[in-house]
Amino acid sequence: PSVGEKYEYQAEVSRLMDLIVNSLYSNKEVFLRELISNASDALDKLRFLSVTDSELLKDATDLDIRIQTDKDNGIITIIDSGIGMTRQELIDCLGTIAQSGTAKFLKALKDSKDAGADNNLIGQFGVGFYSAFLVADRVVVSTKSPRSDKQYVWEGEANASSYTIREDTDPENHIPRGTRLTLYLKRDDKGFAHPERIQKLVKNYSQFVSFPIYTWQEKGYTKEVEVDEDPAEAKKDEQDDTTEKKKKKTKTVVEKYWDWELTNETQPIWLRNPKEVSTEDYNEFYKKTFNEYLEPLASSHFTTEGEVEFRSILYVPAIASTGKDDIVNPKTKNIRLYVKRVFISDDFDGELFPRYLSFVKGVVDSNDLPLNVSREILQESRIVRIMRKRLVRKAFDMILGISMSENREDYEKFWDNFGKHLKLGCIEDRENHKRIAPLLRFFSSQSEQEMISLDEYVENMKPEQKDIYYIASDSVTSARNTPFLERLLEKDLEVLFLVDPIDEIAIQNLKSYKEKNFVDITKEDLDLGDKNEEKEKNMKQEFGQTCDWIKKRLGDKVASVQISNRLSSSPCVLVSGKFGWSANMERLMKSQTV
Ligand code: ADP
Ligand code: MG
Repeated sequence: PSVGEKYEYQAEVSRLMDLIVNSLYSNKEVFLRELISNASDALDKLRFLSVTDSELLKDATDLDIRIQTDKDNGIITIIDSGIGMTRQELIDCLGTIAQSGTAKFLKALKDSKDAGADNNLIGQFGVGFYSAFLVADRVVVSTKSPRSDKQYVWEGEANASSYTIREDTDPENHIPRGTRLTLYLKRDDKGFAHPERIQKLVKNYSQFVSFPIYTWQEKGYTKEVEVDEDPAEAKKDEQDDTTEKKKKKTKTVVEKYWDWELTNETQPIWLRNPKEVSTEDYNEFYKKTFNEYLEPLASSHFTTEGEVEFRSILYVPAIASTGKDDIVNPKTKNIRLYVKRVFISDDFDGELFPRYLSFVKGVVDSNDLPLNVSREILQESRIVRIMRKRLVRKAFDMILGISMSENREDYEKFWDNFGKHLKLGCIEDRENHKRIAPLLRFFSSQSEQEMISLDEYVENMKPEQKDIYYIASDSVTSARNTPFLERLLEKDLEVLFLVDPIDEIAIQNLKSYKEKNFVDITKEDLDLGDKNEEKEKNMKQEFGQTCDWIKKRLGDKVASVQISNRLSSSPCVLVSGKFGWSANMERLMKSQTV
């Protein structure tokens, strides 16, 4: 082999390789899934770019993956006709860790160092290209990008801190475009280089790859061949004097040959009939597509017809992926858009889902959009607006489904992770208030441990009660202890405790639920429906002067001092004016200006 230029791996890559090479992990076979998924990504990229630049396809229009095994020498070769890599891309992609699942894996490893379950993590995460070293001690990548006129070879060994890159000058090795990966298997892993074994693994792991995967298989057919007669037999034949014996003898033999065999089913899962797809299939597809290791909380597979036709599978993840960040960062790559099965983009900014729903993941495949659809087209398209409306509706149905599940824990999990998003929806998406409101959850004066829904609140209302009462506070404990609550508790009226800073603004945006207004119990004109005008008049007369006196003493510190019937045991309470900020808002505003 010719010598190439030598490069050092980025430190993270070395660490990852160490982990992989020294892993005793028994499920080594995941390497094939990872390498096939890279091949499929490379084909996706090419197919997408070729829509606008057909030159890219010129010498080879077949988009497929081919896997060949050499069992005597323990070699596996994986060839794709995808986008390939330029020399620089080889350095950037195979010498450093970018945004990939690989980086995610290292992070998870750091997070769970104490768990001591490193080995298992490899199985749960995509560890990408480097998983080749689970089974190989030498890997050779020969690759040709349509943007480069040269083919380059990357070569790396297990347990090494560097790799080499050289030009592939041997015309025998040249491919029109794409990547050929050659794995030289470790002594104990040579068993992977069996055609049947590879076939089984492809069937197992790559059922969602939408390009054909061919494996090199030995085949056979039977045929009749003429055989020379054995002399003893011939003699015997002479004795029975029949006419047929003159015919030559024939024998059935099996003729062997090798050929490519299509090994996977290439129909994308979203095109299949939902009745024929199991929950396990949906979950597998989700984990593979979005590099997730937890099962989703819910999924929804649907087709819409009529004005605009598209198919989609949507998912609610089990946890928020980047914590709080993705509320403000809607560019989550969570929705993958296909047009006529061609992957177009996963880079959206509110075009298909409003930003507060950007946690929803899924695929959308439309026949009505042009293949060369651009961001501008997406933003202005009427079709996209209709799609968005339908998608949002389906997403809400799916979330409602979780909330109605017998397993209360599921919705608690959802609410923990995405409750904030829905509250943001109350503020940003008036049009969908009706869908969001039933999904909200709050603590209340009658349910301090478990959150309740607005429906549960309404069901629990007193017959004469007209409004939904709430108090905003920084905790359940301080809400419970406020004097504002006294009269309501005495009358057995339930009060929602809004303890998340965004709660109050969300509720104020909703204004009402099922025609019942939300009423802040700290506001001055709180009417509990028990006004006794006569009594109030007498009280005012009796204590009017006292009020004037207190107002004089407090001066500008208060707006006014009034007789109130809202307390039962506390002598006085500070309330906000009808049009003023609530005490909680005031606290929030103060914390903002510090
Ligand atoms: P990920 O696929 O998550 O990005 P990998 O470690 O699997 O991470 O791959 C690293 C990068 O190497 C890919 O993002 C891609 O740019 C490049 N790559 C790997 N395999 C191929 C291939 N067969 N063809 C083209 N590029 C590839
Ligand atoms: Mg990968």
